[in-house]
Parts: sequence; structure tokens; C-alpha cells
Amino acid sequence: MQEEEQGQNNEHQSIANKYDFEKSSMGMRYKFIHLAKTLPNIVDLGQGFPDWDPPRFLKESIMKSFSNDAFYQYTRNHGLIKLVESVARNYEKTFERKLNPMTEIVIGAGAGNVLYLAFKVLLNPGDEVILLEPFFDNYTPMIEFPGGKIVGVPMLPPKTRPKKDFQNIKDLKDEWTIDFDSLEKVFTKKTKVLLLNTPQNPTGKILSFEELKRVKKILDKFPKVVLIMDEVYEFQIGTQYRELPRMATLPGMWDKTITIFSAGKVFSATGLRIGWGIGPNWIIRQIMCAFQYSSYCIAEPMQTTVADCLDALNTPYDGQETYKRWVATYFEKHRNYLLEKLATIKNFDVDFFCPEGGYFIIADISKQNPETKYILPGDDNNVSYRKDAKFLLNLCHDSKIVCLPCSNFYTDEHKHLGENFIRFSYTKDSKTIDQAAEILNKSKSKF
Ligand code: PMP
Repeated sequence: MQEEEQGQNNEHQSIANKYDFEKSSMGMRYKFIHLAKTLPNIVDLGQGFPDWDPPRFLKESIMKSFSNDAFYQYTRNHGLIKLVESVARNYEKTFERKLNPMTEIVIGAGAGNVLYLAFKVLLNPGDEVILLEPFFDNYTPMIEFPGGKIVGVPMLPPKTRPKKDFQNIKDLKDEWTIDFDSLEKVFTKKTKVLLLNTPQNPTGKILSFEELKRVKKILDKFPKVVLIMDEVYEFQIGTQYRELPRMATLPGMWDKTITIFSAGKVFSATGLRIGWGIGPNWIIRQIMCAFQYSSYCIAEPMQTTVADCLDALNTPYDGQETYKRWVATYFEKHRNYLLEKLATIKNFDVDFFCPEGGYFIIADISKQNPETKYILPGDDNNVSYRKDAKFLLNLCHDSKIVCLPCSNFYTDEHKHLGENFIRFSYTKDSKTIDQAAEILNKSKSKF
């Protein structure tokens, strides 16, 4: 191997090989994203980014921030003061406490960056991180780089429902359930972190206060375990919830919980690359240090924009009482539209779940029996794929629609549990959804 010749065959190199999208099946999600970006006339219903414009006020603020008096130099490392003050102001109600902007908030280059650094500072080699499956697959390399080990606890999928239910989606919700006994059993002396993601990618599950309290009861028995709450989809909660239930507000949880957010998800602008972590200073200061000696700081005009725009969260927007209520309503409308359209296609024999929140819809492909006809870029001819990947490769090449396989959202031990599921993103405008439905309606291939 080339790296052996270079004397570089260390642990990180093998992790890099494992997740390199050209070299490994672990990078499979990125191979499908690559197809979505390179194949002609393809409709991307897989990757989670909105294909509508960010709100007007964000675009106007960016123009203003980049005007002549923009500051083009280094800023305070862990967040422009104006930005951390805006985060503190806008999240005090969320956390039901006064937040110290200088010591309890850290800014990073997107939520992904803050998550990466949180694992980096919290984990020693051999430490275990518990995740509910399926989970956002980017957590895996983030945990493995500092030497952490993932322990996955599969959630139980909802029952499939008749397609006619999707003609009146208003009060539907299909909930994945947590097996609390299995969850408790995987805690050991090596457990360092429990990560919960709510609303969840990919299932859309929102953890209720009841569920959070049951998790807390387990955590009370393991007081050294730190909790990472990934709440990047905090406003994609539909209209059934007024507010997302927050773990950090339960008695005793603040001191051991870091909660992570994303400007990209708040403002439908995933390219902004600004995220923030909120939590007790003993965790935040370590992340500040790791950020200071890696990225150093984020472009000042972008931080100024996010600082200004966060104040919109609680002010009226486009006919809704607040911008955050507008987000909940707008995403729900698109969720409903995609479900209504896809569930009525005759040749498309898959079952859909109606998620509570987030960006994604999961479909169950148990009734399908796809053949291997195509291979993903970079794979050998003799590659063997799971059912979800086979199905999606056929969908991609025969019908020009890209979605993502769910086996990737499980640990190696449980990948088989994911192969009957595929993930659609409903962050697509009605034109894109209509186009996908038309393609599937006309498709000669039967799915
Ligand atoms: N957490 C989850 C659950 C996500 O789905 C994503 C993005 N897909 C992130 C974190 C990363 O967010 P950002 O783009 O702000 O880095």
C-alpha cells in the first residue's frame, strides 16, 4: 500500500480509508450524493438541503454585512461578541436560564464542526459513545477519529400504514420507539457520552418530555456520562408541537449537557457554515480551545449576519406570528406535499412513514426485491450491495431520482436492520416534487 511505503499507516489513515467515499462502502451516502451532482437530468430527493431561497432578511443582511465597512480580519476566536450575545439573548427562554455569552456559548464552522470538536475534547481512546439507531452517519468518523467506540441501540420502526392515509395527513405521525431496557443495558464503565438527536435525522423522531425524563432516569445511575444533544432541527417540529422539549432544562441536566445548533438549518442556508454549542463552561471552554487552535475564527460578515438574523426568530414573518413558527409550518407543508405525491404513485410499491419533524421521510422497501444492475462510482465489479443500495441504484439509473440508503445510518452490527429503509428529503420545493412524481408516474420500470 502506498501509505505503508510512506510509513504512514497509522490509526487515522485507516479511518480515513474507511470513510473515503471513493474507497469504501462506508462512504456510500456520499457516492449517491456524488451521482446527484454529476448525472444529467437527475432529481435529488436525497441530500438534506432546501432548494428554496433563504428568507429575504438573511439575504439582505448578508449584502449589508459585506458592504464597504465589512471587517476582513481575525475576530474573537470563539465567536464575535455581537454573535454570542445574540445567541445568549435568543436562547435564554429556550434554556430557562440566563446564559453567559462569553463562557457558555461557542461558535464553530457549522454544527458538524462543533460536534466534531466536542467528541475530540470529551473522548479518550476506548471511550464509548451510545447512539440511538438509525443515526446521522457523520457521527461515526467524528467519534472514531479521537479513538471512541460507538455502541448502537436500534429504535423500533413504526408500523406501515395504508396509502390512503396520506390523502389526509393533517394529524398523522409515525413514531419510532426507544427500547429503554436495551438502552440501559449498554451503559458500562467505559461509557463517556450519550448523544441524542431531536428531531432526529433520519427518522424525524421528536423526543417528548416523557422520553427525555426516562433517559434522565437512566443517566442518574451513571453520573459521569456527558450528554450531547444535537438539536439542529429545533424548529422543524411541525405544528403539533409549540416548542421542542429540551433535555438541558430538566433538573440537574444543565451541568452535563451540551446542546448543538446550526444557522444553516435555522435559515435554510446550509452553506452558511455557522453553528453554536450551548452548555456549562467546563465543556464549552475545551471546545473553544480546540476551535481556536484549528479554524481560529469565522468570517466576520457571516457572523454579523447570523447575529442580526437570530433576532428574527421571535418576530412576525410572512403572515406567521414568528419566523420560527413560519419554519415549522413551511417544512410541514413540504413534508405533506411530498408524501401525498409519492404515496399515490401506482408503480411505486413502497410504504411511507410520516415523520414528526426534521428534514426527512423514511420509506419501507420490504416488498421490493431489487437485482444488482449497476455499481456506484469507485466500486469493484464484484461488489455486493445491501438491498437499499441496490434499490436506490436502480431508481437512480432507471428513473433518474436519487435517495439515500438507510443501512448507512446503522452500526456495522445492525446494518441489516436498515436495509429495508430509504431516506427522502422533503426540503424540496413543489416544482422538484412534481418533477419527481411525473418521472415515477411515467417510468417503465416498476418499483
Ligand atoms: N447534525 C445533524 C443531525 C445533521 O443532519 C446535520 C446536517 N445534515 C448536522 C448536524 C450538521 O449541521 P451543519 O450543516 O450546521 O454542520
